[in-house]
Amino acid sequence: MQDLVVAGCPYCGERLELLIDPSGGSQEYTEDCQVCCQPMVVRVTYSQTETDTEVETETVSVELLQEDDAF
Ligand SMILES: [Zn+2]
Repeated sequence: MQDLVVAGCPYCGERLELLIDPSGGSQEYTEDCQVCCQPMVVRVTYSQTETDTEVETETVSVELLQEDDAF
């Protein structure tokens, strides 16, 4: 089961659909934009929210960065 996240390309602004594997947890990797083919850094952050009802919700947030900015 993978999470589908939509985020905007830092170069061309195009909205991209990214499939994230939750088993990898928070992660960072480089991927070429499907539209403009520029290398962008995908920064994935998982955060767990515990509620009173014992249900743990995992929220995923994705940041897309230009490769130069990330390092
Ligand atoms: Zn792009």
